[in-house]
Amino acid sequence: QYILAIETSCDETAAAVIQNGTKIVSNIVASQIESHKRFGGVVPEIASRHHVEQVTIVIEEALAEAQLQPSDLAAVAITEGPGLVGALLIGINAAKAFAWAHQLPIVGVHHIAGHIYANALVQPMEFPLLALVVSGGHTELVYMKEHGHFELIGETRDDAAGEAYDKVARVLNLPYPGGPHIDRLAHEAEEAVAFPRVWLEEDSYDFSFSGLKSAVINYKHNMDQRGEEFIAAHVAKGFQDSVVEVLTTKALRAAREYNVKQVIAAGGVAANQGLRTALEQAFKQEDIPFYVPPLKLCTDNAAMIGAAGAKMYEAGVRGSMMMNGRPGMELKSWV
Ligand code: ATP
Ligand code: MG
Ligand code: FE
Repeated sequence: QYILAIETSCDETAAAVIQNGTKIVSNIVASQIESHKRFGGVVPEIASRHHVEQVTIVIEEALAEAQLQPSDLAAVAITEGPGLVGALLIGINAAKAFAWAHQLPIVGVHHIAGHIYANALVQPMEFPLLALVVSGGHTELVYMKEHGHFELIGETRDDAAGEAYDKVARVLNLPYPGGPHIDRLAHEAEEAVAFPRVWLEEDSYDFSFSGLKSAVINYKHNMDQRGEEFIAAHVAKGFQDSVVEVLTTKALRAAREYNVKQVIAAGGVAANQGLRTALEQAFKQEDIPFYVPPLKLCTDNAAMIGAAGAKMYEAGVRGSMMMNGRPGMELKSWV
């Protein structure tokens, strides 16, 4: 069973073909990073325009690379939300048009379910499972009893991890998106500036990163005021150490309490080398199987949407031709 998947929720125009929900047949990503870089972040109007230009091209490429005809497909999976409304609508309209022309069902996928299911493309998911979702807009601990079941046990109360990375990168005059640059600097550093760890209430699985971001801004401000030079790499390492320690500690505590069989990481920040290493070590010590997808499947792509979409399709979920973009869509179980 082949699924064509399309993803346009933010600044990547992507299409992929997935076989049986687990195998990538083709995976095309057209990134817009170069166009948004000079603005220091994603500009929604520019994102929409790029999606319009690229979406049919990536769909054709995905099918060509898969060497498949539309008639070989079982369904079209599309990101329904959350994301930028204009960006979402372009993918959704492309999916509807394609599905209508070829008489295929469509399946509306939650973007974060997609990030989580990127893992299904690498190894079978085993339940109960804990997912640490760390991306540009989300920082969550999600408990899954079975396929299609999601229970939010913790989330950020302010900034997402990726958002904090991008904001701190701006303070350090690093290009957008800042995550990979901070990651690289942190690895070069031999010392770290001491920044706070924000744990919140003792039993809470929630996160907060805005205080840490302010601490970095204050540090730079104070150094500037005193006319002192500071070493960006030391700041990057201090910041990353704090983020990684809090994420790893909370994920480990949740994995123990919920007695899960598997822990997975997902989302753009799961591409972070410091975080990957810390999580791998922590769960190895605890003897809990831990997996994180290769970098290309951590950041936005359509393969992950196809993996989640295939599971939804198997469960009988069908979207409607009246589907609209849902910018604030919540992650709901489909079982
Ligand atoms: P969401 O998935 O929450 O809707 P998004 O789709 O914009 O948001 P992703 O594409 O999943 O987010 O991830 C992008 C984020 O990942 C950016 O904030 C980027 O800085 C961050 N990121 C990418 N690589 C790294 C890295 N190596 N270290 C830290 N952060 C990283
Ligand atoms: Mg992106
Ligand atoms: Fe994403």
